[in-house]
Amino acid sequence: MQRKTRILIVEDEVAIRHGLIDVFLYHGYEVDTAADGKSGLEKALGGSFDLILLDVMLPGMDGFELCNRLRVADPEQPIIMLTAKSGDEEIIRGLSLGADDYVTKPFSVAQLVLRVKAVLRRTNAGSETAHFIRLGDYCTVDCLNLSGQAGGETLAFTRREVDMLQYLSANSARPVSREELLTKVWGYAKNLGLETRTVDIHIAKLRRKLEPDPSQPRFLVTIRGAGYRLQTDD
Ligand code: CA
Repeated sequence: MQRKTRILIVEDEVAIRHGLIDVFLYHGYEVDTAADGKSGLEKALGGSFDLILLDVMLPGMDGFELCNRLRVADPEQPIIMLTAKSGDEEIIRGLSLGADDYVTKPFSVAQLVLRVKAVLRRTNAGSETAHFIRLGDYCTVDCLNLSGQAGGETLAFTRREVDMLQYLSANSARPVSREELLTKVWGYAKNLGLETRTVDIHIAKLRRKLEPDPSQPRFLVTIRGAGYRLQTDD
């Protein structure tokens, strides 16, 4: 029998934690939980979880710090943050620490399950695309090892960033819209009405890594009204 998908829920509020356990057991997942940041980190590092649902406000160690430490230990661990506020600041901070996605509290269970499935679908999909991406003479990206070099500097990438680059590289003859990136890279179904801000945040992060001058992109260019295009030649 195929092993069940394992989810770790790190959430200190008892009612929400129990609600989440019920939801994911009902959907056939194997569930483990932690009620504070420290035990959450221990469990996350000790067990092989397919996905971690991580609350931001936690006693002991908050979700941001936990996410940060977990990323250092395992750059590929899928993480979805549960943010208490809808404010940009928390979302941007979570995504820049390497969370794969976020869900704002109070969340709808249906939306949460969709996002969990989308992240799992993406991380389980074997990648048949380029292992190395070269941008002019300036930058190389090693997609297998999530590393690279630009202008003599060593770079580290998240799985999501590399997935975006691989998709843009495979389609570099044309601009790719934000909606297409959400569908193909994030694995969202079409017409969910999801915000495209997530894509822009990741593009900005990539430009800071790949571009000699992020304010004047040479490689990861914006095509007005159409999306983004990766220009692999100078
Ligand atoms: Ca909390």
